[in-house]
Amino acid sequence: MASENIFEKAFQRLEKAMKYVEISDDARAILSAPKETLSFSIPVRMDSGKIQVFNGYRVHYNDARGPYKGGIRYHPNVSLDEVIALSFWMAFKCAVADIPYGGAKGGVVIDPKKLSRAELERLSRGYIRGVYKFIGVDTDIPAPDVYTNAEIMGWMMDEYAQIYGKQIPGVITGKPIALGGSLGRDDATARGGFIVMKELATILKMEPKITRVAIQGFGNAGAHLARLMHNAGYLIVAISDSKGGIYNKEGLDITVVEAHKEKTGNVQNVHGAKNITNEELLEVECEILAPSALENQLTKNNAAKVKAKVVLELANGPTTPEADEILTKKGVLVVPDILANAGGVTVSYFEWVQNREGYYWTLPEVHERLAKKMTSAFHGIYELSAREKIDMRTAAYVIGLQRLVKAIDARI
Ligand code: NAD
Repeated sequence: MASENIFEKAFQRLEKAMKYVEISDDARAILSAPKETLSFSIPVRMDSGKIQVFNGYRVHYNDARGPYKGGIRYHPNVSLDEVIALSFWMAFKCAVADIPYGGAKGGVVIDPKKLSRAELERLSRGYIRGVYKFIGVDTDIPAPDVYTNAEIMGWMMDEYAQIYGKQIPGVITGKPIALGGSLGRDDATARGGFIVMKELATILKMEPKITRVAIQGFGNAGAHLARLMHNAGYLIVAISDSKGGIYNKEGLDITVVEAHKEKTGNVQNVHGAKNITNEELLEVECEILAPSALENQLTKNNAAKVKAKVVLELANGPTTPEADEILTKKGVLVVPDILANAGGVTVSYFEWVQNREGYYWTLPEVHERLAKKMTSAFHGIYELSAREKIDMRTAAYVIGLQRLVKAIDARI
């Protein structure tokens, strides 16, 4: 859930990392606030015939390393503070993954489940009419995030093309394949996390068939992770969506859960599993916990009750700084969001490269290049963390910060 001062909390992580990096006062000042924020109204003609006005945001955090990059979120709890925090994470994530982008994010305060498909399309086209001067193939490239998807990116790209009277597919990533989307973008976020987990499992000698996994969230990030880990032999003992979760200590059949979710809209009440709450999911007996929904899920109130040995943060900002401290003291290894979920933006970058070249890669090519990027990012962070005896989040921020500072210093 979005909460007060989410950006302030996000920034605390950077302050911790600043102790390990030589950073000028100028660079520190530049990194302490977003470069630009845009807040705008989106008037939408509803099916009733009446106009309803929604609040939209786009935030540019930092572009020292390249054009701004970041998703667009549709959620009732979206706030400017949350979008700033998300844009800050994007700047560091792109630096950690070593892709030539800065950090941005967008959002609309809306519960998309309450809109018809036609209203959703008008809202998405309205978002682009509000933001088109603020984005661009060389300046700021949006993508999907919570409750936005490939279809919405397709409408947005089309609206942008209509405004400019020409095709500019690279302005948005996460598009349908038919409109220039990349093969492998759909499960890239989860695949990136899965690759990182595979490397870590080898180091920690975790054997998939006796390793229990709990996943919070069953959308793009969570559902693909569940499928990838299930296929690799891991025991997925619990999963959830916004309405609640399910648990089976023997392991869930993800194909059955997917079919049930498709049919009923929920994961709960699937045959052979016990219904649990989202709070209970975070505390189940397991070796790997993958929060894959929203921020601020592991807090000072529940961190001590986490049984997992590894927290794989597929969501952005699921762990508060207080929870981080509790988990570290308990010996829980937290694989930070800016590494664990960087697969999404990495394949978005591949999509942008393919759009600009007008030449498209095969799925094995995408997978191979993603694996190379994720493996290298993971080992860099893991080794720094072991060498300096710091947690992996701090190590990730140190590496991201070193790269960002180099680019900022080269410009000022
Ligand atoms: P999505 O809209 O596809 O799915 C969100 C899922 O979260 C849904 O299953 C929903 O039911 C569930 N959910 C919502 N509220 C919940 C709650 N209170 N408790 C439990 N589950 C809840 O979104 P997504 O793209 O999978 O994004 C999930 C997280 O991953 C976000 O933090 C997002 O920023 C992050 N992320 C996504 C991408 C991407 O490429 N899609 C990339 C990087 C990071």
